[in-house]
Amino acid sequence: MLTVNAYAAPSATDPLVPTTIERRDVGPTDVLIAIRYAGICHSDIHTVHGDWGPITYPQVVGHEIVGEVVEIGPEVTRHKVGDRVGVGCMVNSCRECDNCRAGMEQYCLKGNVGTYASVDRDGTITQGGYSTHVVVDQDFVLRVPESIPYEKAAPLLCAGITTYSPLAHWHAGPGKRVAVVGLGGLGHMAVKIAHAMGAEVTVLSRSLRKKDDGLALGADQYYATGDPGTFERLANHFDLIVNTVSAPLELDAYLGLLRLDGTMVNVGAPAEALPLHVFTLFGNRRSFAGSGIGSIAETQEMLDFCAEHGIAPETELIAASQINDAYARVLASDVRYRFVIDIATLTGSGEDAA
Ligand SMILES: [Zn+2]
Ligand SMILES: [Zn+2]
Repeated sequence: MLTVNAYAAPSATDPLVPTTIERRDVGPTDVLIAIRYAGICHSDIHTVHGDWGPITYPQVVGHEIVGEVVEIGPEVTRHKVGDRVGVGCMVNSCRECDNCRAGMEQYCLKGNVGTYASVDRDGTITQGGYSTHVVVDQDFVLRVPESIPYEKAAPLLCAGITTYSPLAHWHAGPGKRVAVVGLGGLGHMAVKIAHAMGAEVTVLSRSLRKKDDGLALGADQYYATGDPGTFERLANHFDLIVNTVSAPLELDAYLGLLRLDGTMVNVGAPAEALPLHVFTLFGNRRSFAGSGIGSIAETQEMLDFCAEHGIAPETELIAASQINDAYARVLASDVRYRFVIDIATLTGSGEDAA
């Protein structure tokens, strides 16, 4: 076992605190990663607050992890010591079900093993990236291209793949009109990626507060959903709507913006059920869909795509001691557009600091 410094939630309501956790010994197919940066995802906050169900405390979160390989098991072939690597939202899956065999381990029928707050193959609870080291099976470790700086690569592992996957699946590209609902951590990546894919990109946001940002990120148009005229003007307009908002929306209004065979896909996850009139789907043969992260192969494809197109998230670097303040700012939508923790500042508590 390896004892490492980490930042953990002691309960659903207390602030996160510095602590130490144990990482398993490096197994035959494992990779030990010295973490350099970890992004802060809204899911981290939902998880530690117990919004998505009860969890076991203390819990370390963080599933936008980048760093360097410092040790490998004897059977590791995919990575070597010194490699720049990343870990996203999952660290294992059953590898035997239909979906795993199809290379869609994110949809593992037995449930993929999440990077944190999941039951690992050894029965322990997985602990995430707000820590100095992590041990992960080689098959769930991504290569981070040299041209993407470490701190910029971190948010790609969740925000990047979560938006890339539906954009790729529904063929965002030249001649396609794509709307991105919400311009936050996910939304700003959706705009950049859809633009790089060649689609015509429109941001739909509550107000025009971030309009200049949206256009600078690559959007062609920007409309306020607080203005009822927006829904009239854009009726029957889009091929694809990517909804990144976790709060409930009036689905019929948004679905009405889809043209023939258009799809609205949710990557935001409201906790409550949303009402929907099926008649809205009859018109224009519309589809309402969901999409969860992406496969490991697709995550690698996304990292390579971002490197090729020079795409990186907009980030604000923070020290570990600022994590609780950053959570408050994420909840207040006061971040442009992703906090990234400099793990070098995570030196443990008091005299334990190494
Ligand atoms: Zn996430
Ligand atoms: Zn499976």
